Amino acid sequence: MAHIIRPSDNNSYFSCRALSRPSAVSRVRCVRCNARIPPARRRAVQGVQYCVTCQETNERKDRHDSMRKA
Ligand SMILES: [Zn+2]
Repeated sequence: MAHIIRPSDNNSYFSCRALSRPSAVSRVRCVRCNARIPPARRRAVQGVQYCVTCQETNERKDRHDSMRKA
């Protein structure tokens, strides 16, 4: 049996994927410290998960870890 993808099926497929992608959802509160994330930051960083403080801490930690590994 041939597998036919109609345009309408395609649309629902893509909208479902977009909804199930957690990284694209900007958080109102930081997932780490629960601080409010300013709306400007949520607009600027799509799928933002952390407040500015935690984001900076994460980036410092990442650099530190990669330095230790190298
Ligand atoms: Zn935070």
